Amino acid sequence: MRWGLIGASNIAANHMIGAIRAAGGDIRSVLSSDADRAKAYAAEHGITQGHYDLDAMLAADDLDAVYISTTNEKHFAQAMAAIAAGKHVLCEKPLAMTVADAVTMVRAADAAGVVFGTNHHLRNAGSHLAIRDAVAAGRIGQVLSVRVFHAVYLPPFLHGWRLDNPSAGGGVIPDIVVHDADTVRFHLGEDPVDVVAIDAASGLGQGVEDSCMSVWSMPSGAMVMAHESFTHAYAQTGLELHGTKGSIIARNVMTQRPVGQITLRTEAGEETISFSDHNLYVRAMDHFHAAMRGEGRPSADGIDGIKSLAVAAAVAQAAKTGERTAVDYGGV
Ligand code: NDP
Repeated sequence: MRWGLIGASNIAANHMIGAIRAAGGDIRSVLSSDADRAKAYAAEHGITQGHYDLDAMLAADDLDAVYISTTNEKHFAQAMAAIAAGKHVLCEKPLAMTVADAVTMVRAADAAGVVFGTNHHLRNAGSHLAIRDAVAAGRIGQVLSVRVFHAVYLPPFLHGWRLDNPSAGGGVIPDIVVHDADTVRFHLGEDPVDVVAIDAASGLGQGVEDSCMSVWSMPSGAMVMAHESFTHAYAQTGLELHGTKGSIIARNVMTQRPVGQITLRTEAGEETISFSDHNLYVRAMDHFHAAMRGEGRPSADGIDGIKSLAVAAAVAQAAKTGERTAVDYGGV
């Protein structure tokens, strides 16, 4: 599988280059908006070709697939160009700046017959796979509520567009709420109907929100409470699912690494749920490669990316207006 990287990013350097290679992919080229940076990034990561012109990169005809990890406002045009060139696309979250653009991308990929995936890593974690299995097996009964704790301190090397550039898709809502929305959908198998939210700039955000709290109502009647932040150095992450027969208390699981602890509490007492410690991104790549071979689907596909973006867009709108806001899934 021959890959091109669209975006000379940190996520590619720190996670995805290794994951693509571990899953058997061959990275042929990387695109940066700056020619020198493209060359330097290619050399640093052992990639043959550094490009600064997307059309030239796609025209080179040596790629089966592209991984898009530029800033968020660039995803749409780059994905559309790659799809038009017949490439399979794995795109970072949020897929686009609007739900309508995300729907256009995913429909274009379907029409072109290429595989389209969204890089929601959390649903690939052994911890989340184990939680989902426990919920599906009825171990906590009917789910009454979910609490998501995803307030972290944004590492200094990522301070930049996320904190001060709304037109690049900065802010904690596009950055983290999408992941939480995807994770909750993954566990409950249903999509939020409407949301209320409050956001804030509590220390780091300049012109964008760096913190958000929201409550979502689910079709089953379950309630979801979500807290995301870039400013919390000591909170640690977590996820709790509370049901009629038990509760799942998971700590340190909203993370890029295969870590954390999961406790199941029922009438019988407490038990630890064990889980696999495989690399989240390698699992995502294994699934994407299988989908490219016509075997199965990406672990998170285009519809999943649209839906997580739709929830985040509703949270942003609810925070802005102060009103309970219906989630608009763009017709998917
Ligand atoms: P970065 O800020 O590292 O990269 C985004 C762009 O910034 C790059 O495409 C690059 O532009 C430019 N850039 C990066 N580093 C430098 C530098 N040292 N000097 C000059 N320019 C630089 O973003 P992230 O990797 O944090 O995020 C990229 C995308 O991935 C976003 O959509 C984000 O939401 C997503 N993401 C997903 C994660 C996940 O686990 N699924 C985790 C982290 C991010 P150019 O390409 O033009 O050189």
